[in-house]
Amino acid sequence: MSFAAQFRRELDRLFERRTHWLRSVVAGRSPGKPPAFSRKDVRRAIDKLQSVASDALARDLARDEFEEGVAEKRSWHAKRGKGFLFDDRKWAFLDWFDERFRGRKRAFIYVFWNRRRCVYVGKTARSGRRIASHFDKRWFGPVTRLDVYAMRGRRVLPALECLSIHRFQPTRNKVKAESRKWTRKCELCSIHREIEEEVSSIFRLQTPRPRRKRRRR
Ligand SMILES: [Zn+2]
Repeated sequence: MSFAAQFRRELDRLFERRTHWLRSVVAGRSPGKPPAFSRKDVRRAIDKLQSVASDALARDLARDEFEEGVAEKRSWHAKRGKGFLFDDRKWAFLDWFDERFRGRKRAFIYVFWNRRRCVYVGKTARSGRRIASHFDKRWFGPVTRLDVYAMRGRRVLPALECLSIHRFQPTRNKVKAESRKWTRKCELCSIHREIEEEVSSIFRLQTPRPRRKRRRR
């Protein structure tokens, strides 16, 4: 199913659920017990709509921003003859980093990969040491590759980091993704925020007044 269709279906479901009682008024059948409709349902739908929006848009938005903001991309392979000890690999990486990026503007996005799965996305406006500081973390063990993007400037760092997280869905950045804090200037975050505001305002829930019982004749 296309993203547009998924998005529509989710909205239609929510609307149908919300209007269940209303639909039954002239439908000529007993309204029965309406399906419960709560803030939780709205929240769940917002999450779903945001995730469909991410799936639909993250790739293109990230590509556009990266094309504009990235001066250079380099990959470092963690396993090839770099030794197994933390220090060996760290020094191998730092040598490589200094050689590749010496004298460049110091603003980088870095992405750790375990084959095709993204493990972690980070940013630094300092040196490769910040990146190497992750090497002694437990999750670094299975990392096979490290992509380093040298940025044209620091200004775009937070937005690009956020877009990379939307795009690659790294396993170690979950906390941030679940905190529902928006990154300013990240285009996808602002779409997420608009979805949330719009859906909450359409399906605003107040404490329900008790419905008058219909008199049977
Ligand atoms: Zn974002």
